[in-house]
Amino acid sequence: MKRVGVLALQGDFEAHRKAVERAGAQAVEVRKAEDLDTIDGLIVPGGESTTMLKLLHAENLFERLREFGEAKPIFGTCAGAILVAREVRSPKQESLGLVDLTVERNAYGRQVDSRIVQLEGEAGTGLEQPVEAVFIRAPIIRHTGSDVRTLLRYNGDPVLVEQGRHLVATFHPELTGDARIHQKFLEKLDDSR
Ligand code: GLN
Repeated sequence: MKRVGVLALQGDFEAHRKAVERAGAQAVEVRKAEDLDTIDGLIVPGGESTTMLKLLHAENLFERLREFGEAKPIFGTCAGAILVAREVRSPKQESLGLVDLTVERNAYGRQVDSRIVQLEGEAGTGLEQPVEAVFIRAPIIRHTGSDVRTLLRYNGDPVLVEQGRHLVATFHPELTGDARIHQKFLEKLDDSR
């Protein structure tokens, strides 16, 4: 059975653990560098990216995560998307630079900062049936590099993208019962072997 790590320093890792199990893999909570040695891929959950960044440095995990992502799949959701991006704005922040994205934090504004919408992917994405997307103080992807493929958009902006082995969502696929997006990540684990 595939072993999927869920970074468990802060944020909604518990919901991801359940979503991984629903999708048919074993979930492993990752808190220390050695936890990375036993997993086939890693989910970086939503939460607060600035706090997560501090904790990553405190645990000496920042460089280890970058190395892990150079060899194995990472799925970043919301704050996780911010952490894996190449460039972070508003405010500028350090990031792992694993996916060629420019993201703007808290970009939907502070008044109405959470929403639930139905999104449909184009033919060939496997997401042609509506996906319920929960956005919570989400970033907006302002630029995607040429190796990035967009799988879902909201208001014209990419909200689910892939680049090779990596997957990125600005929304929270772990909060709905729909396992399709986690399954998409599990497919990447197979590909990377
Ligand atoms: N606003 C958070 C950040 O900038 C992300 C929110 C989330 O992960 N739901 O880090």
